[in-house]
Amino acid sequence: MTRNALHLVVLPGDGIGPEITAATVAVLETASDRFGLGLRLEHELAGHASLARHGTTLRPELLDKVLAADGLVLGPMATADYADGSRGGINPSMFFRKKLDLFANIRPARTYPGVRHPAVEPFDLVVVRENTEGFYADRNMEAGNAEMLVTPDVCISLRRITRSCCARIARAAFRLAAARRGKVHAVHKANVLRLGDGMFLEECRKVAADFPGVTLDEYIVDAMTAHLVRAPGKFDVIVTTNMFGDILSDLTAELSGSIGLGGSINAGERHAMAQAAHGSAPDIAGQDRANPFSLILSAAQLLEWQAERLGSPAFAEASRAIEGAVAEAVAAGEATPDVGGRLGTAATGQALVARLRAAR
Ligand code: NAD
Repeated sequence: MTRNALHLVVLPGDGIGPEITAATVAVLETASDRFGLGLRLEHELAGHASLARHGTTLRPELLDKVLAADGLVLGPMATADYADGSRGGINPSMFFRKKLDLFANIRPARTYPGVRHPAVEPFDLVVVRENTEGFYADRNMEAGNAEMLVTPDVCISLRRITRSCCARIARAAFRLAAARRGKVHAVHKANVLRLGDGMFLEECRKVAADFPGVTLDEYIVDAMTAHLVRAPGKFDVIVTTNMFGDILSDLTAELSGSIGLGGSINAGERHAMAQAAHGSAPDIAGQDRANPFSLILSAAQLLEWQAERLGSPAFAEASRAIEGAVAEAVAAGEATPDVGGRLGTAATGQALVARLRAAR
């Protein structure tokens, strides 16, 4: 069924969030006009702004709004501020990943012709990160909560790995690789985390049997960091567990030129959320210096995902046009200083909007 109408909830987040979200909204609205996407954006608050207005970082009723919408654009959150639950409680990022079962965090990274980067060679890869379990899903046992073995000087963090979650993230990676260069690289620490990462590898190997056209190789995570620095061009789709994927994707984003180019979507079977790979960058917040391309590229990924869900090529066309315009803009220096440009956040967004309007 073709349906050109898309309802997205937009939550600008903390720190640089409002700046990069404003640029992203302008780009999405332009893409909607140009490609007839019928976009409807519903603006809400999460994080510090919500805490100030509503006394909580996330109003629970927002879940119903998001469930009723086609997708979500989430700005970076100051998650460290919410970690102990004392300052507003809910971490919106984790909340939506869990509630919407957004199990695949897809984080592409590539070098752009004409853009300076620290990589030794051009590359184009995707990190596929399991997004619902691992260390991020689990109990942190502290003194006083009646857990055995825990004293004021001992904390225990448990990692949870399940066969079903390993299988579904592996399948997501193989599907993606089948549409790209046909290579999956499973990253693990099974030499130490024998059971959990052993199970992850077993599931990757099982899924590989269903994809005869896709190769699978395996890397220990610490060695993988060296391989990525030494020869990033040989990697296609890297699949890994939650924390390893979180760390490796910051490395690959920075290798591509800047963490400010790190786009990502969090995708499940029925829902998806665009979210930059980086955090709220308090060190540059409010200075008109943040690179908006991370969230703009995340939004482009969300449109691509919607194209498949809605069976409407217009969304894929819009997604490609945004990605193409970003590549041209960054090569032309119409970008922020982190990638060698000379513009501020707002002007970078405006220049991209003009490019998108003029694009054929
Ligand atoms: P960060 O990712 O916010 O920043 C790391 C460095 O990258 C900083 O120097 C920052 O200025 C730079 N940077 C980040 N985004 C940029 C952009 N778009 N353009 C240019 N430079 C950019 O990491 P941090 O400072 O350790 O964390 C800040 C807060 O964000 C913390 O509360 C942390 O918990 C949170 N965080 C949230 C997420 C998330 O919501 N997905 C991810 C990572 C960190």
